[in-house]
Amino acid sequence: MNDTKDFSTSVWYADVPSPNYPQLKSNLEPDIVVIGGGITGITAAYLLAKAGRQVVLLEAKKIASGSTAYSTGNLYATVGERLSNIERRHGEKDMIEMVKSRLAAIDFIEEMITANQIDCDFQRVPWHLFTRNSHSENESEIQREFKAGKKAGLEAHNTTLSDFPYSDIKEITTFENQAQLNAYKYVLGLAQLINHQNCQIFENTPVIKVKDGSPCIIDTDRHTVKANHVIMATHSPKGVYQVHTEMEVYREFALAAKLKEALPPAAVYWDLIESGQYSVRPYSTHDGNYLIALGEPYRTGTLEENEQFLQQIEQYVHQHFNVDHIAYRWAAQNYKSGDGLPYIGISALQWNTYIATGFKADGLVYGTLAAMLISDKIVGKEHQWLELYNPTRFTPIASAKQFAKETSTVVTHLVKDYLFYGNADSLKEIKNGDGKTLTIDGEKVAAYRDEEGGLHVVSSVCTHLGCVVHFNKAEKTWDCPCHGSRFTVDGDVIEGPAYNKLSKPL
Ligand SMILES: Cc1cc2nc3c(=O)[nH]c(=O)nc-3n(C[C@H](O)[C@H](O)[C@H](O)COP(=O)(O)OP(=O)(O)OC[C@H]3O[C@@H](n4cnc5c(N)ncnc54)[C@H](O)[C@@H]3O)c2cc1C
Repeated sequence: MNDTKDFSTSVWYADVPSPNYPQLKSNLEPDIVVIGGGITGITAAYLLAKAGRQVVLLEAKKIASGSTAYSTGNLYATVGERLSNIERRHGEKDMIEMVKSRLAAIDFIEEMITANQIDCDFQRVPWHLFTRNSHSENESEIQREFKAGKKAGLEAHNTTLSDFPYSDIKEITTFENQAQLNAYKYVLGLAQLINHQNCQIFENTPVIKVKDGSPCIIDTDRHTVKANHVIMATHSPKGVYQVHTEMEVYREFALAAKLKEALPPAAVYWDLIESGQYSVRPYSTHDGNYLIALGEPYRTGTLEENEQFLQQIEQYVHQHFNVDHIAYRWAAQNYKSGDGLPYIGISALQWNTYIATGFKADGLVYGTLAAMLISDKIVGKEHQWLELYNPTRFTPIASAKQFAKETSTVVTHLVKDYLFYGNADSLKEIKNGDGKTLTIDGEKVAAYRDEEGGLHVVSSVCTHLGCVVHFNKAEKTWDCPCHGSRFTVDGDVIEGPAYNKLSKPL
C-alpha cells in the first residue's frame, strides 16, 4: 500500500462512527454556556450537568474535532516542559502540586471509563524519557527528570528493560503507571453520558462574539444565548485576551504507520535528540495495529516551507522501525504558556468568563483538570489548585523570557510583514498547489492556486489583530504567526483566537 498524502483525518477516526448533534435553532437562556466540544468542554459540560446545572454546549464544527482528535493520546503526570524546569521556575512545592493535580485528572479519566464502560482503548502503561546520543545536556536533563519525579512521588526508575525497542540507550527515566487512550472515542463516549435533561449539545454552531457580564451574552452565527457563566473551552480563547501576549503557538506533525514487524510494548516513548524529541507509541484497535509518531514543533505561521518537518518524522520512523506504509498523517496546534503552567480560570478584566489554555502538548490531562477546577468553582467548591493555574498570576521571572520573545515575535511580524510585504508580484507567478501574498490594486491579498488551476483570493490581513497570514504549504492553509489563527484557502476560520473569516477583496 502507498503512503497517504491526506491530512484531513487522524488515526483516532479509524473505524469510529461520528454522531450528529443538532444546530442551535433558537435563542436560549441556560445557567452556563460551554464553548467548544473538545476534551475540556465536554468534560466541563458533563460535570456541570451532573451537578444539576443547566448547560448549553456550542461547538463550531463537530464534537472532539479540534486538537483532541489530533493528539497522540498519551496521559502522563509529567509535562513536555519537564518537571525540573517547572521546579526551577516555580519551586519544588508548585512542581509537586502540578504533578498531583495531573495525577488526579488521569485518575478521573480512568474512573469515568471504568464506571461507564467507555470503549476508548484506555490502558495503564509506563512513560519513558531516554536518549541514544551522548550529548551531556540530554543526559543531565533525563537525570533531572528522574530526581524531580522521585520528589513528586512518582514511581520512577532508570534501567532499560530487555524488550525495549531501541538499543544504545545512554540514559533513561521511566515513570510507571501512566496511561494511553483514544481521546476521540473517550470524548464521544463522555458526550453520550451527559444528562441531556440538563445539557444540550449543538454542533455546527460557531460563536462569533462573547460579551462578559451578568448575564454574559453569547452570539452565534444565527442566535443569541444568555448565561450566568461562560467557559471558553476553545483551546485558545476567542477574541482578545491578555494570555495571548504570553503564549507561543506551535504546530506539530504526527503520523500513524503500519509496520512489517510486531509493535513495541505498550508505552509512551519520548526519544530525546540533540535538537528536540520524537514521541512514539503503539496503538492497537479493531482496524489494525499502528505505530504513532510525533515530530518536532515549529512556530505556527513562520515557515511556509514546512514539509521538512513531516519528512523528518517519516525518516525517523523508517530509521527505527520496519515500516510498511504511512496510513495517516496529521498536524495539530499547541499553545505554550509564558511560565510553563497553563491558564485556567477567570482572565483579567472578566467576571464570569472562564478560560482554559496554554496546555502545550499536555492538554488531554490539563483540559480534563481545567474542566474539574472550573466546574468546581462554578458550583461553589474552592479548589487549592485554582491559584496555581490562575490566568492573572504574576510570575515576572518565570515568564519574562517568553514574554519578551512573544512580544518581539508579534512586533517583528507586524513590522517586517508590512515593510517587506508579499512574496509574489503577480498572480501568474503562483503555481498549482501553492499560495502567495501580494498586493492587487492596493489591497493586501493571499492567493492560492488549486491543483486544477483555480484561484482562491482572500485578504491576507488576519482578522484577529491585523498581522499578515503566511501560507502553510503542507496543509494548504493561511496561518497567522502572531497568535496562531488559521484559515482555509477560502478564508474560513479553522482555529485560533480569530472569530471572523478573512475578508474577500473588494
Ligand atoms: C500533535 C499533538 C499531539 C498531542 N498529544 C497529546 C498527548 O498525547 N497527550 C496530551 O495530554 N495532550 C496532547 N496534546 C495536546 C492536546 O491535544 C490538547 O491540549 C487538547 O486536546 C486540548 O483540548 P481542548 O478541548 O482544550 O481543545 P480542542 O480539542 O481543540 O477543542 C476546542 C473546540 O472548540 C471548538 N471551537 C473553536 N472555536 C469555536 C467557536 N467560535 N465556537 C464554537 N466552538 C468553537 C473547536 O471546533 C474545537 O472542537 C497534543 C497536541 C498536539 C498538537
